[in-house]
Parts: sequence; structure tokens; C-alpha cells
Amino acid sequence: MNAKVFITLIALVILGQARAGAQITRERLQTGSDEQLLREWIRVLSGDEFGGRKPMTPYEDKTVDYLAKQLRELGMEPGFNGDWFQPFDIISVTAKPAAGGFTVSGKRKASLRYPDDVITWTTRATGKIDLKKAEYVFCGFGINAPEYGWNDYEGIDVRGKIVIAMVNDPGFYDSGLFRGRNMTYYGRWTYKFEEALRQGAAGCLVLHNTAAAGYGWHVCVNGHLSDNLGIYNSDTRNANDLTVRGWLCEGGAEKLFQAAGMDMDRAVAAAKKPGFRSFPLNVKGDVKMNVTYNIQKTRNVCGILRGSGGDGEAVVFCAHWDHLGIGKPDERGDTIYNGAADNASGMAGALLVAKKFTQMPRPERDLVFFFPSSEESGLFGSAYYCGHPAVPMDKTVACLNFESIGPAELTRDVVILGGGESVLDRYYVAAAAAQGRYIYFDDDNSDGWFYRSDHYNFVKNGVPAVVLENGREPVGKPNKYPMQVWYHKPADEYHEDWDLSGTLSNLNLIFSVGLSLSNGSNK
Ligand SMILES: [Zn+2]
Repeated sequence: MNAKVFITLIALVILGQARAGAQITRERLQTGSDEQLLREWIRVLSGDEFGGRKPMTPYEDKTVDYLAKQLRELGMEPGFNGDWFQPFDIISVTAKPAAGGFTVSGKRKASLRYPDDVITWTTRATGKIDLKKAEYVFCGFGINAPEYGWNDYEGIDVRGKIVIAMVNDPGFYDSGLFRGRNMTYYGRWTYKFEEALRQGAAGCLVLHNTAAAGYGWHVCVNGHLSDNLGIYNSDTRNANDLTVRGWLCEGGAEKLFQAAGMDMDRAVAAAKKPGFRSFPLNVKGDVKMNVTYNIQKTRNVCGILRGSGGDGEAVVFCAHWDHLGIGKPDERGDTIYNGAADNASGMAGALLVAKKFTQMPRPERDLVFFFPSSEESGLFGSAYYCGHPAVPMDKTVACLNFESIGPAELTRDVVILGGGESVLDRYYVAAAAAQGRYIYFDDDNSDGWFYRSDHYNFVKNGVPAVVLENGREPVGKPNKYPMQVWYHKPADEYHEDWDLSGTLSNLNLIFSVGLSLSNGSNK
């Protein structure tokens, strides 16, 4: 193709988009009664009476009861064997080092200071952690990723040992590796723990680096000094979890390497290159912690609209119900983190889509409307659900996640996070085109957002899942309440002047994607 033809084509594409943008349609969900209903649900769920919807408070009862009532009134059947609710336990652990907490010895002795060098916790239900003479192993990034030809665990036995694993993935340092700066799930600190556990390690310390983590050491410390949360298994009392989880700062790691008589910088540099082999530090030490914990129940909510096909396959629509509750006052003295955008708007959107499905001939597949608890504290509700689903994971064809979808102005584009990763992409492209809009695939995942909402638990379980964000190209004025105004603040409140034109447009898009998927056209 010559340059002139190419430029003409580009111009046509741009023109096409601009022209299409002028006639953006809002088919099924309309301004008027649909919008009024959407506003009503957002207004109620984000009201001060709901206290910011923190799990395991009286506001949980209020929220889940309200949701169940809406699902019942929409004519759904309860998602969990006749029950709208799926209870599960969350453990909250505070672990403090006991005397002699982190002394290690190799060629030399060293003592790690808590929490200046190391911050540790556990998710086990026990009064005491007493790991004796545990060996430390340096495992590079702690990644086992066959698709990238990378295995930091090759040829090394870490059973019963403490793994040290660098945060992020090799692509952060070398754009030719993994997905470059677009962090893969292998870069997340939570992955490091999961893999170390699979490998049989007793503990895992994630080696912090401010640039690679995207935040400073104080964030690691403040996030884990107390109240570390996890899903609690009453059969095992979490005895199958890692004994020790933690973060290690670079200064702390330096001490370990010095005790080993080894050069940390050289080891870290080597770990960034393909072909690196993990190695034992020949350093041993006890890890002693005094642990207090409590266990509380929280609930997921789920309703199902049965499809006409009867083959047991389903499309899941997901919107977390929890938010941050009542906390630190803002400059206005407001202490209620209402979570109107995050995620009353998502719940209201899911309910509106559900209502549309009740007003038309039922599609083939089942439609599962799932409202997980405890998204904000670690995606626990969706993680529990994926282990105990209303419809088996291998019968779940997709998960469409509603996350902070309003307020949003009408845009020519829609952003899909983790673009290019999902077989669902083409459904979104087609649905957007039918609206005269287009999809912007956001594959800049350097901030890891793709891994930080409920849909990712579905992805981890082999279910295609997508989260959508409002577009970047407004048709008119941008809305008055951009994310930086409200994100995780008491100011996340509903206002009657919220612009929901973009929200409705996005809901129409999700609705048509859901409709195509529920009619089996992806087979
Ligand atoms: Zn959210």
C-alpha cells in the first residue's frame, strides 16, 4: 500500500468515526424511566443510611437484604440452592514479632528490624508462628510462567523454606521480556505468595523496590501492621496457607545477603535476565510471631434468570456491593464513604440490565447476577465464589464486571482494560460499532488495574472476563465529577446533576454483549 492510499484510508476511518459519533444511539436503555430507575438505585444504595456498605457491619445486612429484595422483585430465582446469600468467613490477623523474631545466621549473623526491614503476617488461625531454622532461598521474581518460557523455580527445592521474590516481572526492566512495562499478573505481590505456596514453601517475602512496586516501603508497612485479611476455611483453619507472608525492603535484603556473604546487587541484576537460576542463601533463621485473629462472616448475593436453553451454561454479570464504610473525616468533616460511583453505580447498572432481560423473550443461557462482598479489601467475595460458584466455572461462558460506571458523559469510545487479552473483545467491538462508537483497548497495565477488580478472579479460573471504563473522547462536556474527585473518598456521593448519559450508553453496550453471549453465538 502506498503512503497516499494509507493516509486516505486513515482519514476515512477518522471521518467514519466522527460521523458515527454524531449519531450515537441509545437503544434499549433510555433516558426517562430507565434513567430514573438507575438514579433511584444509586441514590438508595449510596445513602448515608447504608453507612458506606462495609462488610461485617450492620450495614452489610441492610445492603444484602436490599439487593435480595430487588432481585426477588425482578422475578429472579435465588442463586445458591434456594438462597440469595452465600456466606463465607473472613479472617483478620494481626501478627507482631516475638522475642528473637528475625535473627538469621549464615557466614555471619544478622538481625532484621520490624517493620523497618521486614513486615510479616500470616493468614493462619493460630496464636503463634514459630518457624524454626528456616532456610532462605533467593528466587528472582518467583515466577513460573510457561507461556513466557520463564521458571524461577526450575531445579530448586523450596519446600519448607522461605522464598524471597522480587516484586513486578522481568518486563519492567527489559521491554523485550513478558509484556514489557505492561505488568502481567506474575508481577503482582499476591501472585508471589500463590506460587510460593504451590511450590511448597513455608514462607514468602516479596522484595520491595519503589519503582517496580509503584509505591514506597511505608505503603507495605501500613497495609500490613494490623488486620491482614484472608478467606477463612473452617475445616483447615487455614493450616494449608503459607506460614509466613511478608515484604522485605531492600535494606533488609541487603542484611540477608551480607549474612550469606553474597552480593545482592549482582544477584538482583542476574535475576532480571533469562536463564537465571535461583539459589539458596545458606542462611537460616527463626521466624517468631505472636498472632491475634478474629473470624467473621460476610455474604455474596446472587440471583439467576434461567435461560431457555437448559444446558446449564451461564453468563455472569458482576458488581461488588461493598465499599469502605465509615472512617477518617475529610476536610468537610464527612466520615461516610458512600461509594456512590464505587460501586452503587455498578450495582444499579447490573440491576437495570437484569430488568431489561426480564422484559424480553429469555435468551438461551442462564443469566447470573452476582454481587460479591469484600472487593475493596482483596477481591475475597469473587475469589470465594469462583471456588463455590452458582454455575460451575466450566459452564460459565463469560463474566461482565460493572465497576464504577457512573457518573459518565457520553463518549465516542469505550475503554476496555487489559485489551487484547480476551476472546470477548470482538463482542465489544461489534456492540460498540452498532452504537456508532468504537473500543479503545487500554493495554497500558503498568498500574496493574486489570488485576484489581473482581473479574480477574474469573480470568484466573479460565473464564473470559472484561472490565469496561468510560471513554476518553467526550461528545460534549466532560462530566463534573471525574474520578480524582471521588475515588475512595467521602466525596463519592450521588448528586442529582450526575451525568448518566455515558453510563446508559455503556449499559446498552454491556447489555448487547450479554445478549449475544447468552444466545450462544460464541460457540
Ligand atoms: Zn470498586
